[in-house]
Amino acid sequence: MAIRKVARMGHPVLRQPTRELSREEIRAPETRALVRDMIETMHEYGGVGLAAPQVHEPVRLAVLEVDAESARYPADDEQPLLVVFNAHVTVLDETPFGFWEGCLSVPGLRGYVERPSRIRVDYQDHEGEQRALEAQGFIATVFQHELDHLDGVLYVDKVKDPSRLAFIEEYQRYHMEAPQPDPED
Ligand code: ZN
Repeated sequence: MAIRKVARMGHPVLRQPTRELSREEIRAPETRALVRDMIETMHEYGGVGLAAPQVHEPVRLAVLEVDAESARYPADDEQPLLVVFNAHVTVLDETPFGFWEGCLSVPGLRGYVERPSRIRVDYQDHEGEQRALEAQGFIATVFQHELDHLDGVLYVDKVKDPSRLAFIEEYQRYHMEAPQPDPED
């Protein structure tokens, strides 16, 4: 296992299209090693998710983990460690859910983004089996943020009001209304 270097905004790999992985590739030892490295990297930097392009691999793979206890989230905002291959999002409810997002590839900043509040995610698991899940609220935000990375999209692209893009210190001083999770992914 190894902690991988995280690509920062401006690196072309974050803007490249990604390709799907075949069932054989998903089950291959080198992919399993990449997944282990991504999980270790996510844990090292305290992220709630990490997409493969962030570690310079342009493939449709992401890992997510939202720990309710350690991060002081409401009990229903929890996502056990999950690895998703070839994931695609379907919006189930367009009602906007707004959140101050952060990203390991855009260190030191927070930005307010509104996204659809309820989604379905179709994906393949680590054995290549087709699966689906539904997510809402903060967890839906985490999925959409991660899966945007697979399409070369960063959260800063979706900050509609530039006055709500801030350094963490200024965010905490001027924009944080109440204690809330402060994840980077
Ligand atoms: Zn990110």
